[in-house]
Amino acid sequence: MIIKIAEIEEEVVFSGIICADRFKSDYENVDFFGPVEYSLKIGRSDKRLSVKGHVQCSLNLLCARCLESFRYEIDSDIDLQLLPREMAPTDIDLELERDELDVRYYDQDEIDLTELIEEEVILNIPMRAICKEDCKGLCEKCGGNKNLNECKCESGRDTRMAQLLRSYLEEEGDGHGGSQEKAIKVKKG
Ligand SMILES: [Zn+2]
Ligand SMILES: [Zn+2]
Repeated sequence: MIIKIAEIEEEVVFSGIICADRFKSDYENVDFFGPVEYSLKIGRSDKRLSVKGHVQCSLNLLCARCLESFRYEIDSDIDLQLLPREMAPTDIDLELERDELDVRYYDQDEIDLTELIEEEVILNIPMRAICKEDCKGLCEKCGGNKNLNECKCESGRDTRMAQLLRSYLEEEGDGHGGSQEKAIKVKKG
């Protein structure tokens, strides 16, 4: 969805849905439930645009611990500034400063809203998702899903110390993409 900057009069709200088919092939083990919904308010002051609103969709992801699929909701707030490319700073310090304000640049007096929405969705897909905080994962010996039933494999040998050590190691392993998990609600479906 290409929007001509000149056609935006002060403030416009764009809302609707985008079919998620276009995203599907890009991600392994990620399925979308239904379309991506968006509602974005674009304000213009000369060549400077502000984009505020939110993007929502439901995904079907595979849990990194137990390998079961689960429903994952993305409901992300967008708040960014768009400036024409020629206003991009060349000074590295300025560039860093602008990064903090979430500034993007557009070319040729138009913006692609779909691209913006797609980017927001991608940023919010966790690299390593878990179905629930206390997912017990798979048994290292028999491969059974320990959320469904406790197998007998480790009985008698699983001391409190071993549990602590294992959860510590798992915490360490969860570091990947952790920052992307912050503002997202996980809903079991
Ligand atoms: Zn799990
Ligand atoms: Zn087992």
